[in-house]
Formats: sequence, structure tokens, C-alpha cells
Amino acid sequence: MAVDCPRCGLKTPRFLDLCRNDGYKLWPSSYAASAAFKAWRDADPARAAASRYDMEIPQHVENVVDFDAKARELGIHMPPPSRWPFVICAGALFLSLAAIPFATEVRITLAVVGGLIFLIGVVGWVLVEDVQMYPAESADGGEVHH
Ligand SMILES: [Zn+2]
Repeated sequence: MAVDCPRCGLKTPRFLDLCRNDGYKLWPSSYAASAAFKAWRDADPARAAASRYDMEIPQHVENVVDFDAKARELGIHMPPPSRWPFVICAGALFLSLAAIPFATEVRITLAVVGGLIFLIGVVGWVLVEDVQMYPAESADGGEVHH
């Protein structure tokens, strides 16, 4: 669907009346270019998805990548997915709401609730899940008193 422009020599969509690079007139009018494009497109069902502006007929490519398999292949350690960051963020939401100058009781309540959720998230992520994930490591260094 691309042609070399006769004037600049660069590739340009074949069914646009003007060259995309230097505006050279490829067709007598936009209507003629459009009519030619429609005739060309309707001649073959495989061209149905094409647009006048395309340099090539669009292909539907299924572009799914298994990043976990890719990481294993490359020897990169990927931590298993965790839900705890969401809990921490929910706690941070309430903590930041406590920064808004509401009545004092409301702010204290928000701060306590937010702090609790935040701490539950941190404890769940760092102390519960991480210990299950790296048992040998935590036995050596995690429980040592500083
Ligand atoms: Zn040109």
C-alpha cells in the first residue's frame, strides 16, 4: 500500500492524494484517490481492514508474552504476586485524609484507622508473606535482634 513518491523518492501511502513527505500531488483529487482506494479495497476481502492512510494492510497479531516464563528463561528472580501493597495503599489513603483539616475527632479517627490498616499491610507483607517466601533467609538474619 506504499509507493515511492516520484518527486522525493520516499515511501508514502498510495491512496492519499498528496505525498505525505513533500505534498507532491499523486492523484488529481482527494475524491479520485478515495474512489480508487474503495475500488481496490472491495476487490479483495483480505483488504477490508485497510485504511487509506496505511502504508501496509494491518495484520492482527496476537501479542501475548508470558513474562514469568521469560524471566525464568533469563534467570531473573520474580517475586510472586502479592496483595499486601493494596492494603498499604488503602491505609495511606486514610492517613492522608487525616491531614485534611476536619474536626479533630474525625482526623484522629481517620489517622487511627489508616495507621492500623497501614500497619496490617506492612506486617502482612514484610513479616508474614516474606518469611514464608524466604524461610532460610529469615531464619539466619530476619529474627536476629539488633
Ligand atoms: Zn514526495
